[in-house]
Amino acid sequence: MLIIPNIELRLSFCLDSLFYLNPSISTGIKQKDITNLKCFLDKETCVPTIKSHMTKQTLGLENHIYQYLLSVSIREPDILKKLREETANHPRNIMQISPEQGQFMALLVQLMGAKKALDIGVFTGYSSLVVALALPPAGKMVACDVSEEYTSIARRYWEQAGIADKIDLHIAPAIATLDKLITEGETDSFDFAFIDADKSSYDDYYERALKLIRPGGLIAIDNVLWSGRVADSQIDDNRTKKIRALNKKIHQDDRVTISMVPIGDGLTLARKRE
Ligand code: CA
Repeated sequence: MLIIPNIELRLSFCLDSLFYLNPSISTGIKQKDITNLKCFLDKETCVPTIKSHMTKQTLGLENHIYQYLLSVSIREPDILKKLREETANHPRNIMQISPEQGQFMALLVQLMGAKKALDIGVFTGYSSLVVALALPPAGKMVACDVSEEYTSIARRYWEQAGIADKIDLHIAPAIATLDKLITEGETDSFDFAFIDADKSSYDDYYERALKLIRPGGLIAIDNVLWSGRVADSQIDDNRTKKIRALNKKIHQDDRVTISMVPIGDGLTLARKRE
C-alpha cells in the first residue's frame, strides 16, 4: 500500500470517483485495494484534498474539529453504528450519509411529530433506519430504490432494529413509485421526505415529493453542495448541472420556505407552504 498520505488520499478519491461513474473502468488496481485504502482513510481520516462527487462527512471542517463534533454530539444507537461499519466496507460507501446528518434528520422528524415519511434512494438503509427509528411506533415509511442487492442489507438492519413493519420498500424506479402514490390519492399525506437517489432525476423527485408532502411538511434534499462541484464553473457534467439547476430553482420557488444547511455534503430543507 502507498504510504504518502496525500498521494494515497488523492488516489483513493480519484478511484472512487472513477468507479462511481463507471464500475467497469479498468485501472489495473483491484477493487479490494481501493476498499482497503478507503478503510485506511476512514480510520486514520483526512479531509479530502481533491473533489470527489460526494462526501460523507460535513464539508469544510478540519478533521480535528470534525472529530470533536462527533465526540461531543453523536448518540448513535448500536444498530446504526453496526450498519455504518458494515457499509464502510462497501465499494460505494461514500453514498451513505454521515452520523451527524442522520442524527440531525432524526431530530427534525421528532420536532415535526412526523408520522409518515418518504425515503427516495435507500442504498444500505442508514437514512431510512435513522428516520424510521425517530417515527412513532405507528409511523410509516415508503422507501424507494432500484437495487435488490443494496436494500437486502437495509432490510436485514430494519429487521434487527424491529422497525421493518414501519417500512414499505418499493424496488422500482422511484419516479414510478411516486407517481403510483399520487395516483392512489396519497397527495398531501406525507410529513417528511428525504431525496438521495440518482442526481439526474433530482428535479423529478422534488416535484413529486412536493405533491406528496402535506402543507407544512418537509423535504430534505441531499448532496446539494456536491463536494463543491456546483460552485465550480469549470465543472459541467450532467449530474452537477442538474443539482445546480435544482438549487437555483428552489431558491426562487415560493411554494416552499427553505434553508440550505452545510451538513454532510449539503442538505436543502424545503418546507411546503400552508
Ligand atoms: Ca447522499
